[in-house]
Amino acid sequence: MQNPIPLMEAGITKTRSVCGYCGVGCAVDVMTRDNRIVGIQPAMDGPANEGALCVKGQFAYDFVHHPDRLTRPLVRRDDGKLHPTTWDEALQIAADGFLRAAAEHGEASVYGIASGRTPSEADYLMQKWVRAGFGTHNIDNCSRA
Ligand code: SF4
Repeated sequence: MQNPIPLMEAGITKTRSVCGYCGVGCAVDVMTRDNRIVGIQPAMDGPANEGALCVKGQFAYDFVHHPDRLTRPLVRRDDGKLHPTTWDEALQIAADGFLRAAAEHGEASVYGIASGRTPSEADYLMQKWVRAGFGTHNIDNCSRA
């Protein structure tokens, strides 16, 4: 049996990170070569996962380098097509859309769903935005699915 090639000799760098798929927050070692992900390993000392990962966290990383991945904000213009823009403009257009929906269809037409991966502070702001901003309790998060 041959010894495995050491990571450094194979040009692979190992970087500690946290899986971004769900609220468990498993610790992972991301294996990269030439600035591209070539594998994910479970961190043996990860406090939440202790060397284990689910199939999604271990193998579903193709999206990182996928050509269709969104890497900048897009807005739909009058031609019906999506166009790149700045974050300031995209956020303003989104805010205008929420206000228009509330004005035309009532405040209950706005519903917020927070990500299960957001920190408590962001969740607090999200519920405040829905409750104080629109006067409804239409707020939930994807962890309840
Ligand atoms: S590896 Fe699986 S269980 Fe762990 S954080 Fe990622 S998605 Fe969640």
